[in-house]
Amino acid sequence: MPEKPRFRTVIEPFIIKSVQPIRMTSVAEREKYLKEAHYNLFKIEAQNVLIDLLTDSGTGAMSSEQWAAIMRGDESYAGSVSYQRFEKAVKEIFGFTHVIPTHQGRAAERILFSVMCRAGDVVPNNTHFDTTRANVEFRGAQALDLVIDEGRDPASIHPFKGNMDLEKLEALIKRVGAGKIPLCMLTVTNNSGGGQPVSMANIKATRTLLNKYGVPLYFDACRFAENAYFIKLREPGYENISVREIVQEMFSFGDGCTMSAKKDGLVNIGGFLCTNEGDLARQEKDLLILTEGFPTYGGLAGRDLEAIAVGLNEVLNEDYLLYRISETKYLGEGLTNLGYPIVQPPGGHAIYIDAKALLPQIQPLQYPGQALSIELYRAGGIRTVEIGSVMFGKIDHKTGTEAPGAMELVRLALPRRTHTQSHIDYVLEVAKEVFDTRDQIPGYRITEQPPFLRHFTAKFEPVKSS
Ligand SMILES: *Cc1c(COP(=O)(O)O)cnc(C)c1O
Repeated sequence: MPEKPRFRTVIEPFIIKSVQPIRMTSVAEREKYLKEAHYNLFKIEAQNVLIDLLTDSGTGAMSSEQWAAIMRGDESYAGSVSYQRFEKAVKEIFGFTHVIPTHQGRAAERILFSVMCRAGDVVPNNTHFDTTRANVEFRGAQALDLVIDEGRDPASIHPFKGNMDLEKLEALIKRVGAGKIPLCMLTVTNNSGGGQPVSMANIKATRTLLNKYGVPLYFDACRFAENAYFIKLREPGYENISVREIVQEMFSFGDGCTMSAKKDGLVNIGGFLCTNEGDLARQEKDLLILTEGFPTYGGLAGRDLEAIAVGLNEVLNEDYLLYRISETKYLGEGLTNLGYPIVQPPGGHAIYIDAKALLPQIQPLQYPGQALSIELYRAGGIRTVEIGSVMFGKIDHKTGTEAPGAMELVRLALPRRTHTQSHIDYVLEVAKEVFDTRDQIPGYRITEQPPFLRHFTAKFEPVKSS
């Protein structure tokens, strides 16, 4: 057990061995880039972004050990040694019997739901990630979010805002019948709910409830290590248990999992699907061969499997996790001290600013989240992402009217092992300037949009104040 830190400063537990320069730009240049991109940050070239907080997915830095492992990659089509190392790492940590590599998380989801789910089924989750929801719905099944009420309220403080609402889950099972629920999922941490963790007690209770009705439990395991570290920090009885053991206990309650290794696998590409059921695994491997590849590489190169095997062990290092959670907390507390309303408490991988509360002068259908993320880019070259009415607003094509999304958030996602504290200090300084001029920030209108997933390609223009 490492001794309790004696100093307040949590340092990055690594030194920098290889660097990628980032380019300073002027406000005038960024205004030009914004106009050229029609105020859509997805259309800004990455070379014109100074601090890119668009996503934590696949954007992290690999370690020297991972790069060394990459050189060991065995690219044999069948039975590669790299697959054996990958399989051993996954089995030791997650404890499932069958391990199926995929090129990323959504491929694991597609295969899982293709095998387990039929039209008319219902799949409950604390909150479905958007690719998970899309893959469930693509099967003609219904994806339901049953997170506890606290998890839907940005301002409420609760140590485990990702918990499943067990009363709602049992009511659902009784209403539709267990035969209509092929599996239940738990997303750890709850990404779409602000990266909030699920407690061990809630995992156990979910399992007990599902046992009563014979429904399997699967984890969406993308941020499993961050979730386990929150359990260690916040759940009584776990303070002296290693994160590795906490992870093993969490997954002992599951029948399988899907995983995007682009998150807590600490790699730039990769994923996997696990199950304890031989018959399911056989069907899943048949589908894998159809689109991803042979079961000992599943759409990945041998070297990718090596990097995942190393990454899954590195992510359990508690110095790393302390740094990771502290970096997110540092950003969240800094923003809170400036006066920003954020989803509380800070989650594992990102901070979400409540743009509706920050910019009351901008109506939801003039997109306060979009407006704020444009200002953060204009002021300091910081790229964030709107998670609000641009992403989730629904247009009624008969009447031409638009219903806003449930919340107007701006997400600042932190790539793993990529930025130092001075980068975060810079983000906070830019955020202060934006905060001080917030009443002058204009709303936006959409001038062009595609019929679906409009946030990627829509064009905007500022609404002139009268
Ligand atoms: C990223 C993510 C996925 C999908 O993984 P990809 O690798 O992007 O396909 C699924 N669930 C959650 C919770 C995620 O964060």
